Order: sequence, then C-alpha cells, then structure tokens
Amino acid sequence: TRKYGPFAGAVHAHAVRGLDAVAISDEHGDVTYAELDALSNALVRAWSAAGVTAESVVGVMARNHRGLVLTMLAAAKLGSRLVLMNTGFASRQLVDVATRESISTLVFDSEFADATATLPGNVRRYLSWQDDPALDVPTLDAAIEGLDRSAVPVPEDFGGFVLLTSGTTGTPKGAPRGRTSPIASAQFLDRVPLREGQTMVMAAPAFHGTGVSQLALALALGQTVVMVRRFSPIDALRAIEDHRANVLVVVPTMLQRILELGAATIAEFDTSSLKIIFSAGSALSPDVCRRTQESFGPVLHNLYGSTECAVVTVAMPEDIQHAPGTAGRAPVTCHVELFDNDGRRITAPGEVGRIFVKSGLSFAGYTDGHDKERIGGLLSTGDVGHWDERGYLFVDGRDDDMIISGGENVYPLEVENLLAERDDVFDVAVVGIPDPDFGHRLRAFVVSAPGATPAPGEIKAFVKSNLARYKVPREVVFLDELPRNATGKLLRRALEEMDPISSPDEQD
Ligand code: ATP
Repeated sequence: TRKYGPFAGAVHAHAVRGLDAVAISDEHGDVTYAELDALSNALVRAWSAAGVTAESVVGVMARNHRGLVLTMLAAAKLGSRLVLMNTGFASRQLVDVATRESISTLVFDSEFADATATLPGNVRRYLSWQDDPALDVPTLDAAIEGLDRSAVPVPEDFGGFVLLTSGTTGTPKGAPRGRTSPIASAQFLDRVPLREGQTMVMAAPAFHGTGVSQLALALALGQTVVMVRRFSPIDALRAIEDHRANVLVVVPTMLQRILELGAATIAEFDTSSLKIIFSAGSALSPDVCRRTQESFGPVLHNLYGSTECAVVTVAMPEDIQHAPGTAGRAPVTCHVELFDNDGRRITAPGEVGRIFVKSGLSFAGYTDGHDKERIGGLLSTGDVGHWDERGYLFVDGRDDDMIISGGENVYPLEVENLLAERDDVFDVAVVGIPDPDFGHRLRAFVVSAPGATPAPGEIKAFVKSNLARYKVPREVVFLDELPRNATGKLLRRALEEMDPISSPDEQD
C-alpha cells in the first residue's frame, strides 16, 4: 500500500498502530503521534481549500517547535514540495530563495515577519502556531479549527523536501531530497544505539540537514522529540534532565557553549540518561571531543556529511577516544574515496586529498540545474581530508578554505584545532589575507576565554613550537565573538573582509 512518504507515513503508521507516545514536546506542551497525525490531516484540508495542491511549493521559516513538524507532515500528505528556510535569512535571501524555488505558500514564525514583508503579495502566508495580534496573518491553529481530522487520501506522488546549503559561500543552494533521503541517517542504525522509546533533545535547528535527518529518524522510530526553540546551554542541559533524554542533537558550537559552562555546572544537571550526543554540520575539534567525554562519558558521535550527500561517515565514541576529531568510517551503505588533483586515488595514511562519496542517498543536482563535481559515480563533498593508519577519516576543511602562503598549503582547521587546546582561547579562526610577498599571510582571530588575556606573541610561539613555521599566524586579532550563521558555521568570508583592530606591523 502506498503511504504518505517516509516522514508523514511513519507518523501515520504509529498513530494507526496505536502507539501511545508523545511525538513532540515543545514550549506549548506535548503532542502525541495520534494528535500530530490528526492535526496534519486537518491542515491538509485547510490548505486544499485554500488552493494548495500537490504541484504547489510550500516554504517554512520556523524555529524548532510543532508548527515546523506539522508543516512538514501536511506538505508530505498533500504531495507538495517543501522548502526548509534558514531562520538566519534576511529579507533579501528569503525573497531570492522563495522566487527561485517558486514558493506559493509560506509558513513562518512571527519573529521573522520583517524578513517576509517584501515577499510578493500572492504568496499565501500562515503564522506557525503562535499568534501575533499585530500581524494580519492566519495562524495554523486558526486555519485548522473545526476541520475534519480523519485520514486524508494518499497523494499520487510526493514533491520531496528541498534542503538549503548553509550559504557560507554565497546564496544558499537548493538540494532536493527525494522520498527516502530525509531518513538518511537510518543507514548507520546498525552501529548507533538509537531505539524506539527513547527521547531525543533537538537543539540543532531542524531546518538544516543535520536536524531534519535526526528528526525524521526519531519519528520513524516512534521516539519523543523535545524541540528546543532557541538554544541556550543551560536550557539544553535542563531539557536532558527534565525529560530523562537519551539523545542530544547539536552542532559543534552548541557543544562548545555547553562545555564552556564548566564541568562543575554541567555536573549540577542529571544527564545520566544520555546515551548519544550527535554532532554534525561542522568540524569537531579534538579538544571538544576530550572535554565532552570528561563531562558526559563515551556518548559523542561525530557525523560527517552535507546537504547534498547526507551523512557519509560516523565516528563512534570508541573511535573518538582513539582518534579525537576523527569523522570515523563510512557505514556499509556508503563509500568514501580520496583523490588528488590529478584524479589519482589516495590510500596512504596522512596524505591529503579531496573527499568523494557514493551513497544511494546523494542528491541528483541543485534546483537551479547546477551540480557538484562527480568522478566515476562518486560525488565531491567539496572538502579535503586524510586517512589515518587505522582507516579513520579526518576532514581537514573545505577545499576552498585552503590558504597558500609562501607556496605552502595551509588548512586553517589544523591551526584552529591546535589553538583551541589552549585554556585561554575560547574560539579561534584562521584566514588568509592577500600579501604581496607570500601570496597570502595567516591572520588568526581569537576570542579569549572569560578572564583570560593571551598575548599575540604567546599565540604565535605556541603554533611555532607545534607546527611548521609557515603555519604560524603573522597577525593575531582579538574579537568578542566570531561571525557564525544560524547553524554555527564560521563565516570565513566575513573575517577575510574585516578590518583588523590591532596593527599587524606592531606584531611582527
Ligand atoms: P554552502 O555550500 O552554501 O557554502 P555548506 O557546504 O556549508 O554551504 P552544508 O551542507 O550545511 O553547507 O555543510 C556541509 C559541510 O559542512 C561539509 O562539506 C563540511 O565542510 C562541513 N561538515 C559537516 N559535518 C562535518 C564534520 N562532522 N566534520 C567536519 N566538517 C563537517
């Protein structure tokens, strides 16, 4: 029998088999699988009556709460394509993406009303759940009030989800994912202790590949998902304690902020129920790996992947213990290869190459018709990495982040990971600045740890005593915080364009 696609289909199946579990717990309270299924049926009816069809494209710009999940379910049941907007979008990006993706219905949180104001007038608008009397836009709950909640017909086809890349290198690209790939992470279930009946705290934004994959997986398993509307380190710990949660989904900067509370504060919360921390979306530094193990035990799982190719490698807690910072290995359903610039396969440990992957869950090209590079059926991730002796993958950074200084290749992540080990450094980024003599010179941006005042000379000396000379930053600039997007990704281009506060000459 045909179902509503994997996402809505799983929720419907749990409702039909009478699973008596809370599906979503958020700031508004708890909603069970049966309720979620019924509410989404009513929303399908409301949208159908308003003219939304299987050919329509629905967009959603919402933080983590039931309104986002309901929109996902209703779009899937209608068969409409759903575009998951980044909550960090300014009006310009929102309009660009909405136009490119032909969005005709948009669900949004009232806090993003300003960003949506310049959308064309013919776009149908709904507020996602919470009301704002100042806005003349119907809420989802008003739209479904009094409507029949019984099952709706299964559509002929499902337009699928469109995930957007982070846009760290320009306008976010649209990566359509078919019927199955939202539950991409299911491919590592044989290695990860994720089971029915568990509770997952979703701290990472659910609009991003990381969050949506884990959300889909949790719903497929009949778990309870605690949606954290807006991340704060204390709230995340409190959610784990209050819900006796077994799984925490974060991006690395969230983990870093939790650890920054200090071991004593973390220990005030009962996190003994936690079996898994999933971190994905950016590199995990060895330092964060070690400190996570100290505070939470062997629970950290590092997932490496991208919007285009879903999760392609997993590092288990024991892998991370042996090799902190590793991205682990590919599950049986995936294949990872490294190639040099001449397309030669790299197998020797330590040799850096471009990462290519093959998995049944990779996308088939962007919505604008462009594609990523492919070599013999393998898709480029745009990253470079190396193998260690045991065959673990290490991601050294994005191909285009590499800095050539004095003819030598520098991957900023290596320098950043080293500096992150210093107690007086909270956050750090290294970028290349055009230089008449060296092509590029290295500039480190450092956020000092609270109360610490590291001297530029100490920072440089530390790198000098640990890494090759050409990897030593010529300049050190101190900032209060680093520019990051809504998924915690470092905005390196913004740093490259930033005028430093301190004079480089004084530091040489
Ligand atoms: P854009 O292409 O718009 O600039 P993006 O590539 O940053 O966006 P995403 O798909 O969100 O968009 O990010 C995927 C990238 O994030 C990967 O290619 C890799 O560089 C990085 N990444 C994700 N997970 C990890 C990880 N576990 N370790 C290291 N890097 C990671």
